[in-house]
Amino acid sequence: MDLNAKIYIAGHRGMVGSAVHRFLKKTGYTNFILKNSAELDLINQHAVNIFFEAEKPDYIFLAAARVGGIMANNTYCADFIYQNLMMESNVIHAAYKIGVKKLLFFGSSCIYPKFAPQPMKEESMLTGVLEHTNEPYAIAKIAGIKLCDAYRAQYGCNFISVMPTNLYGPNDNYDLQNAHVLPSLIRKFHEAKLNNEPSVTVWGTGTPRREFLHVDDLAQACCFLMENYDEQGLVNIGAGEDVTISELALLIKEVVGFQGTIQFDHTKPDGTPRKLLDVSKLASLGWTYKIGLREGLKSVYAEYSTQQLSN
Ligand code: GDP
Repeated sequence: MDLNAKIYIAGHRGMVGSAVHRFLKKTGYTNFILKNSAELDLINQHAVNIFFEAEKPDYIFLAAARVGGIMANNTYCADFIYQNLMMESNVIHAAYKIGVKKLLFFGSSCIYPKFAPQPMKEESMLTGVLEHTNEPYAIAKIAGIKLCDAYRAQYGCNFISVMPTNLYGPNDNYDLQNAHVLPSLIRKFHEAKLNNEPSVTVWGTGTPRREFLHVDDLAQACCFLMENYDEQGLVNIGAGEDVTISELALLIKEVVGFQGTIQFDHTKPDGTPRKLLDVSKLASLGWTYKIGLREGLKSVYAEYSTQQLSN
């Protein structure tokens, strides 16, 4: 990508899109197209077509998506499938029509079958049943990957898909009902510390295993792939290491400095037992993550607690 290439980051206010924007700016890119959802509704095909005709971006990072944790996926399942299908179909088709140089689509590790062999290889997609708590979202994301591959096969479009693991970092969602586990626990432990509460409640049994990657590492990996990967199929982006939810809770408790105990609420769902990505494809291309979990948690917590003070 030329440093003056016209780059459209769809979803630039979200955690992923904002990290890509930060990383590209730091690298020297200057020519961005950024629209929030009030300025451009990606669910509206007509609006998307008009926007693409007018702006004609060279490169697209398609990070716009309706996302959320285990509860949000359960509660808003229709919104999750409909909105994601519409956004990705509209953007990918418009990108083909105006002939963009390259598009990068963000999938999610929940596209892999619930009982996929661990760590999960890219080839595992569509080899088994999905975890039911996020099946509608996963189906929409699988459709996005297939759209990229089909437009590559039929029209020769250079559209690639990446599969990030669970992410955390600046601009994460800390809403307790809708957030993913890591930001939820940061908030729970932080508030429990401030209120001198005796314990924090963690959902489920604490035994599921999850992998976490700082979003700044993801942004760097995506820009690396934008430069170095031009094939169909997906590329996993993760750390290649996971922890149990109990281990995560203990680590966050320590980073936050909470002195009380941890309780597990067995009435809440565990979800997939394990979600670890096989990152050997990305490693063979020459990329590995840099920000370790403890270090990443410290920086995220420092930012979160400062924001809370200023609110
Ligand atoms: P998932 O990775 O798609 O299952 O989504 P989450 O990040 O929401 O949940 C991951 C795991 O963390 C599940 O086993 C949850 O039950 C567990 N968990 C424990 N405490 C919490 C919490 O406070 N919020 C969320 N979202 N998950 C939690």
